[in-house]
Amino acid sequence: MFAIRSVDDLINFKDYVKDKKKLIIVGGGILGLEAANSAKKLGLDVLVIESFDYLLSRQLDKNLSQKLEKGLNDMGINTQTGKSTEEILVDNNKVVGIKLSDGSKIDADAIMIQAGVRSNIDVAKNSNLKTDRGILVGEDLKTEEDDNIYAAGDVAQIGNFTIGLWTASQEMGKIAGANMTGSHNEYEKPKPFSTLNLGDIKVFSAGANSGDGVEELKVEKGDNIYKLFKKEGKFVGGILWSDIKHQTDVKKIVFEGVDPKDTKLGKEMSL
Ligand SMILES: Cc1cc2nc3c(=O)[nH]c(=O)nc-3n(C[C@H](O)[C@H](O)[C@H](O)COP(=O)(O)OP(=O)(O)OC[C@H]3O[C@@H](n4cnc5c(N)ncnc54)[C@H](O)[C@@H]3O)c2cc1C
Repeated sequence: MFAIRSVDDLINFKDYVKDKKKLIIVGGGILGLEAANSAKKLGLDVLVIESFDYLLSRQLDKNLSQKLEKGLNDMGINTQTGKSTEEILVDNNKVVGIKLSDGSKIDADAIMIQAGVRSNIDVAKNSNLKTDRGILVGEDLKTEEDDNIYAAGDVAQIGNFTIGLWTASQEMGKIAGANMTGSHNEYEKPKPFSTLNLGDIKVFSAGANSGDGVEELKVEKGDNIYKLFKKEGKFVGGILWSDIKHQTDVKKIVFEGVDPKDTKLGKEMSL
């Protein structure tokens, strides 16, 4: 059973699967799908199990997610959505498959977990600092319990969110460091956007694309799909499928409130 955190993990994985066939990846997020694509290239039979109803639920609306799933299946990557992994099946100290919450069992020679970030918070727990998924801090990254203890990066939890991104961790580190030496800066939650590049599948997504009152503007040109999502008169999200060159425009429209008419994307979509 593998989780990929370092180059050594990757080398160990590749070494182990050299003479193996069936790989199950638990988790159909961006990293899970990238791993599935790479594992497929190694010649493995790959099955991705995702507990949510559809893949990339945070990045894609259901319709594009289903299109993505079909694209992956056409590439030979198998998927099962809406299924939770309940148990890893082991025989003679070796992984032999998984059991799903619906009771079904699937054989596997190896399993890779790609189900998000878990903070290592033992040191904080042992020191009686408040923890949840991460070490609880305010927007100034200071712990409530001690004015001289701050947390930054993957391990920090501000309100209800932990992040798990390199750029966010660097930014938090700078702010925590400055605040520890007398500044009063606050960390602002980053604007979410992501890109997925798997062979011919190219997707860019920013902001929100679902929820109450969210309406969709969609333009399809051949293989290219451009979507913007609006709520209460404001653009809150966008997705580019296949032709992803207008990423900066999506970010400007969604995060800076720029009028789509003033962007190349807006012209592409005849807005
Ligand atoms: C496979 C993989 C791919 C990724 N890809 C991306 C990507 O494409 N883009 C992106 O933005 N982010 C990516 N990330 C996430 C990114 O690496 C992290 O967000 C970032 O490294 C977090 O920085 P950090 O300093 O908070 O934690 P870390 O980089 O984890 O550093 C924490 C350090 O503290 C040490 N440590 C832990 N406990 C103790 C202790 N008790 N005493 C002393 N030392 C301790 C650890 O050994 C570690 O060296 C990826 C992560 C992984 C694993």
